[in-house]
Amino acid sequence: MHGNHHHYPRDRQRLFMPPVPSIIIASVLFSLFYLVLGRYAFMFFPGFMLGYLLYGTMHYAIHAWNPPFKWMKGLWRNHHLHHYKDEHKGFGVSSTIWDHVFGTMFDLKKEKEDKEKVQELMFGKK
Ligand SMILES: [Zn+2]
Ligand SMILES: [Zn+2]
Repeated sequence: MHGNHHHYPRDRQRLFMPPVPSIIIASVLFSLFYLVLGRYAFMFFPGFMLGYLLYGTMHYAIHAWNPPFKWMKGLWRNHHLHHYKDEHKGFGVSSTIWDHVFGTMFDLKKEKEDKEKVQELMFGKK
């Protein structure tokens, strides 16, 4: 699915997992959490799902809109660069913290935004 998104970054249908595989994968994950956490899985799972949905929504926003706040610009640029410059860097979508930790961070100050390539990653625009 992730490879699909790289090939068709402007296809909104490929951003979220479709419902049927989602339910299957969510059930498998819940079972694993239940095995490890027992009844605490009922607390852990909603938080896990919420986090995943926030991540998915954030990714959608990056492809659909311009950054709503100035301080979010870096996140947008980070993901744009992930698409068109180096897909082995800039994995962070809702935060770049893990890119810093694992040394996969782009030097955002040095990278110039390629306006044309960014347009190609956006939905609903030419
Ligand atoms: Zn993307
Ligand atoms: Zn990727």
